[in-house]
Amino acid sequence: MQVIIHRGTHQIGGCITEIKSNKGTRIAIDIGENLPTLNNQKTTEIEVEGLTKGERAFETVFITHYHGDHIGLYNKILPDIPIYMGDVSKEIYKILQKRLENAGIITKQDLDIIERFKIYKIPEKIKIKDILITPIEVDHSAFNAHMFLIECDGKRILHTGDFRIHGQRGKSVIPALEKYVGEVDCLICEGTTLSRIKEQPMTEFELQNKAEQIFKKNKYNFVMCSSTNIDRIASMHKATLKVNKLFICDKYQKEILMYIDTISRSSLYKFKGKVLSYDNNIIQLMKEKGFVMLVRDNYISRKAMKEFPNSTFIYSQWKGYLDEKFIEYKHMQEFVPQNYIYLHTSGHADYEAIKQVCRTVKAKMIIPIHSEKPEEFEKMRIR
Ligand SMILES: [Zn+2]
Ligand SMILES: [Zn+2]
Repeated sequence: MQVIIHRGTHQIGGCITEIKSNKGTRIAIDIGENLPTLNNQKTTEIEVEGLTKGERAFETVFITHYHGDHIGLYNKILPDIPIYMGDVSKEIYKILQKRLENAGIITKQDLDIIERFKIYKIPEKIKIKDILITPIEVDHSAFNAHMFLIECDGKRILHTGDFRIHGQRGKSVIPALEKYVGEVDCLICEGTTLSRIKEQPMTEFELQNKAEQIFKKNKYNFVMCSSTNIDRIASMHKATLKVNKLFICDKYQKEILMYIDTISRSSLYKFKGKVLSYDNNIIQLMKEKGFVMLVRDNYISRKAMKEFPNSTFIYSQWKGYLDEKFIEYKHMQEFVPQNYIYLHTSGHADYEAIKQVCRTVKAKMIIPIHSEKPEEFEKMRIR
């Protein structure tokens, strides 16, 4: 069996990994776009023979989760190669991409490709000729993100995708690896945080408590976070319920939350009847009761922020978007007020969490991906 990392050994994002069996079956894991769009960094296109051009040589593509640095180049895949995605991820991705189609950012053809994605569902295994793939759901800033156990030619590989263990569902990651994976020959592991190993991330639960304190003190609150970072939204929602204020967002965000509510049994994701979408009719109620409103750089958010000019603004996503190196920073700086509160925790595993995964699966070989400092793996004392 061969493992080929087409892109992503010395950078964060843009991941494309290939697994090829001795019999010649080839599958790709992730087909990511380069991150981030910095002014001084050109997004380089990538072509893989038999996957994005030429005659079809790949059986399938498996997507770990819906972040652009893992799925962004889906429309470059040769049309007859099936793309597999987690069942819930696919639905969230569809809602997100539909909004982009309405805004003219992607085409109807792109949307049709997504519509045709096949799905995988835990704990089902998928057999692609002589390769067996087992998806394992993990904790990440994307909902329904997965690691893959790949078995073929008598060898076992674990591809981690992006993961963490300090989120709402972090506690289940290591037990899931013990239960469904065990020991592997090769670990393909993400190392996003290895360039800042001394940082200890705040847990999502600690973040929720901090948000609650802020909401308690301030009557009117705006929160900016990714519309698909469901666990962050769940933290903000829970904190809002504790202080008995209104939880408000736009119609698109509400559609995502209502979908999550229907597929989840956990009380954390019960949004039905507790989320209002912003319009003129609720302004009076907002004034009376106080609120937490999720915002993004759009008309509705700007309107609401104008209506409540002296509110608290919490910035709850990657700080890099505010950096002047980031191509859209001017937009962001116009939108995010100067006196914002920064409340965020990473979607990626910290040093200790990576070590724990390495120890759990006792890999004979580690291939670092999704990292600017892959050499840190060499210094890690795993045993
Ligand atoms: Zn990523
Ligand atoms: Zn990700």
